[in-house]
Formats: sequence, C-alpha cells, structure tokens
Amino acid sequence: MKSDVYFVKSDQSTPEGRVRALEKLLEATGQFMVYKKEEIVPVKITIGDSACVYNLSPDLVRPVISGIKKDGAKPFLFDTCVIYRGSRQNAVDHLTLVQDKGFGYSNIGAPFVIADGLLGNDGRELTIAGPDMHKVKVPSFVGMLESLLVLTHPTGHIVSGFAGAIKNVAMGMSSRATKQVQHSSLKPSVITKNCTACGCCIAICPVEAISFKDGKAFIDQRKCVGCGECLCACKFDAVYINWGEDPHTFCRRMAEVANTILQKFKNKFFISFAFDITKECDCISNKNEKMVSHDFGILASRDILSLDKATMDLANRHKKTDFFSDIRKVPESMFDYAAKKGMGSLEYNLIEL
Ligand code: SF4
Ligand code: SF4
Repeated sequence: MKSDVYFVKSDQSTPEGRVRALEKLLEATGQFMVYKKEEIVPVKITIGDSACVYNLSPDLVRPVISGIKKDGAKPFLFDTCVIYRGSRQNAVDHLTLVQDKGFGYSNIGAPFVIADGLLGNDGRELTIAGPDMHKVKVPSFVGMLESLLVLTHPTGHIVSGFAGAIKNVAMGMSSRATKQVQHSSLKPSVITKNCTACGCCIAICPVEAISFKDGKAFIDQRKCVGCGECLCACKFDAVYINWGEDPHTFCRRMAEVANTILQKFKNKFFISFAFDITKECDCISNKNEKMVSHDFGILASRDILSLDKATMDLANRHKKTDFFSDIRKVPESMFDYAAKKGMGSLEYNLIEL
C-alpha cells in the first residue's frame, strides 16, 4: 500500500522563505502532530559538526516546537554522542555547541538533552531481530514515551550514499557502542602508492588502529571500529572502503536498528528539510562543501521509508551533480531491506501542498 508523503515545494534560500514553507506544511499536517497536554515529546535533530554550516537551521526548529507547545505538551530536542573526535563526542562539548549554533532554550523554546549521557554510554538495551546484531543500546526513554518527532536534514553520505531520516534514527538514537557495531563492517584500507605518509589519519583515528609500516600508513583491521574518520582525513585518496560489499552491511544494520527503535513508539512523524543538500553528511561537511542537489522543499510523512525514498527520488530529479544517481544502488538496497522488515512502503503518494 502506498503511503502519503506531504511536500511543500520551495527553493527559497532565505530563512524567511524557508519558514513560510514550513508554516504551510505544519498547517496541512498538524493532525499528525497532536500531543496530549503535559505529554513529553522527544524531537530528534542533529546540529552538525562545529565546521558544518548547512545543518538544519534553528529558524526551522522553533516553529515546530511552538506548535507542539501550543496545546500544553512538553517537547525537548535530543541527540546522542558521536563516535569520532570533535565537538559532539561528549555531552559537555555537545551542549556547548548546541548553544553556539543557536539551539539553546532561549532561542528554540525547548531544552536540549544528550540522550545517551555524558560519555555516550548510558541507556537501555533492546533485543534486535536482525541477522547481524542481537542487542542495541538506546536512550532509556525509548519504550517509555509514546510519541517521536524526527527532523532531518537529508544529505549524501560517505558510505551509505544517502543520509536521511532512517540514518538520523539509527545512528542518532543509539549509544556509541551501537553506533560502532553499525559501522564495524567498514574496514578501510590504505592504497600505499597514494600514501604520502602525512600522518593525518594516524592523528585522527580514535582507537589508534593506524601506524606507519614501511613508511606508509597501515590500518590494523582488528582494532579498527569503522568510524570512517581516516577516509575524511586523507587528502590524497589513499584510504578506501570496499564499496562492493561493506556499504550494504552498513545500510542493513542501520535499517535494523532504526526499525527496532521505531517499533517502541506509537505516534511517529517525520519531517525532512531538503535545503543545502551536501555530498557529505552534517558530521563532516563544511563551508566549502559541494551541493549535489538544488533546494526543493520540505517533506513529511508518518512513514519513514516512504519519506526517505521520496526525498532521494526528488534529490535525484533536482540534481546538481550525478552523485545520487551514481550511488543509487547503495541506499536502494537499504530501502529494500527496510521494506522487507516492514518499516514502511517503497511506494508513496506525493501530495504537493
Ligand atoms: S582506521 Fe579509520 S575507520 Fe578505522 S577506527 Fe581508525 S579512523 Fe576509524
Ligand atoms: S592521511 Fe592518507 S596520505 Fe596521510 S598518512 Fe594517512 S593514508 Fe597516508
């Protein structure tokens, strides 16, 4: 059965134009964001790395929070600690960045919670039914709260090709250990002829898996946790991932984790903001990042799979480069797997508002 995906077309680059598009969407889809008085409503977002300037704007989060509070519900924004080095690896640095990037209470009207604790280890375990994983560790409110709202800035991704709402839930709602398990199939290697021995990958690896061997970088596959940092750090195309196999395992695991988490919420709604669609995700991108698609608007659905599929289809239709058509098979394998798991529908009605 096809799921409904609501769509406000917009190529606005100004905050005011984008907020107008959001208001149109909220007006038409308000019936999917009805919460009880006093209900605590978790709102998942990612503020992006400190160098990222294209993450979801606070201007687009504020109206969503106002709408939730209108009838007396109590929203909070949340994210979790990341596995790579940077300003979101622990709750202290992450919350400092929250303030710096304009997501603090005084600007948004809701508190921000780092949902897996100070160092990304807190939470509860859920059993997972997938073939690759048996347990996942998630924020302890998963299974205790009825509703979940997920706000996503869709982008490309260095491994899965597409980072949409499924990735936002799978990575952003799991503890560091579960993030590592999802990444662990990705064991990069070094192309020695390209390696200049600059040492950048060694400096950035969080688990000291890289050392010099015969004057070139060498990755110890037993120590590597697959975080992908060395791929981003190498400016000489000397670190590569086996794209033939690994990305599919990575994608399948993300679908499994997202599915397990989402089953714990009765009332779910997903909104994706298709503006500033960079080749890399918000964990990596910076002000020099290339756009792979033109801006095309805001999408929303109760079906996370239909939402991601529609977003990627539209990104491909509004493409600036061939990025999404080139990597299409990787995210599509995740969508197929997610459909088999019953996460949602691959077919959708695009309802333009
Ligand atoms: S070798 Fe690369 S992918 Fe593996 S843990 Fe180190 S930085 Fe991450
Ligand atoms: S960052 Fe690249 S070039 Fe530099 S040492 Fe590592 S693999 Fe070699």
